[in-house]
Amino acid sequence: MMRRIATEEAFVIPEVIGPMLDRFARESYEPDLFFWSKAANGTPLQRRLLDLGEERLAIMDETGIDVQLISLASTGVQMFDADTGTALATLANDVLAEAIGKHPTRFAGLASFAPQDPARAAREIERAMTGLGYNGVIVNSHTNGDYLDQPAYWPILEACEACDAPLYIHPRAPSPQMVAPFLDYTLEHAIWGFQAETSLHALRLIVAGVFDRFPRLKVVLGHGGEGLPYWLPRIDGMHANFKAPDGRRPALELAPSAYIKRNFAITTSGMNWAPAVRFAIDALGVENVMFAIDYPFMDSATAVAQMDAIDIAQADKAAIYHRNAERIFRIPPAG
Ligand code: MN
Repeated sequence: MMRRIATEEAFVIPEVIGPMLDRFARESYEPDLFFWSKAANGTPLQRRLLDLGEERLAIMDETGIDVQLISLASTGVQMFDADTGTALATLANDVLAEAIGKHPTRFAGLASFAPQDPARAAREIERAMTGLGYNGVIVNSHTNGDYLDQPAYWPILEACEACDAPLYIHPRAPSPQMVAPFLDYTLEHAIWGFQAETSLHALRLIVAGVFDRFPRLKVVLGHGGEGLPYWLPRIDGMHANFKAPDGRRPALELAPSAYIKRNFAITTSGMNWAPAVRFAIDALGVENVMFAIDYPFMDSATAVAQMDAIDIAQADKAAIYHRNAERIFRIPPAG
């Protein structure tokens, strides 16, 4: 039996989902609140998100998942004010750490932080990585329309690099500055908005020179790399050909694609589609591709059946199913 580690798996705590659902009931349409409303009270989705025990483990057993790398569901704490978001990140990290402590061979974790307060976010990243033994950290793309390449957020990137914390950039709906044209046809969610938002965030980090400043920073993208792997030669070519006349875009030490190969890894969350997985191996190298499901939003049995059926070498499948996650997230090998 091949060990399977699923690397983008979600949970929530009542203190986070409660206020999000209250806000959905009160406010006019907001894309991310609509997404939260899919996990309304009484739904199996909410029950599965809140559970860090019996039902989660039973589904893992039924579907052959050895380890879930668990993180707080999008948008995490990023729609709260800075003080509330900071306190909720600490609470969520304590709750998940306790569950991991109870099931250390089945659960691993990505810690939350509130970018709204970069200095305290950096301290929480350090506490989670060195104090609580987390495997990395997660952010749900923009925060109030801001992106992590903006210098105010560099303390977060500095903390990730210092703690060897892989930074998982998980999607959310596009920032307020670009969401409008998505709204007419409800394209702002996982159908297109999520990857448009998240790939933009990743590309901003690259062209801003973040990886020249933080060369050991590791970023992980879900959903097959949010489209970026397909675009590598075009990004390199256009980056070289179109330079802003005012010099606002810094010169880089490497071509953009070189950072994607050096500083990024991707997961197959929601995208365990054979052509996409084979392409990602071809474009990025098998060592940069990890299996993920997106439990409980996506079906675990389907994801496993899809990955099992992909016709690639057994060694490559072992790399995707567990070896890369063991290396990148420092999840102890089995046995
Ligand atoms: Mn997800």
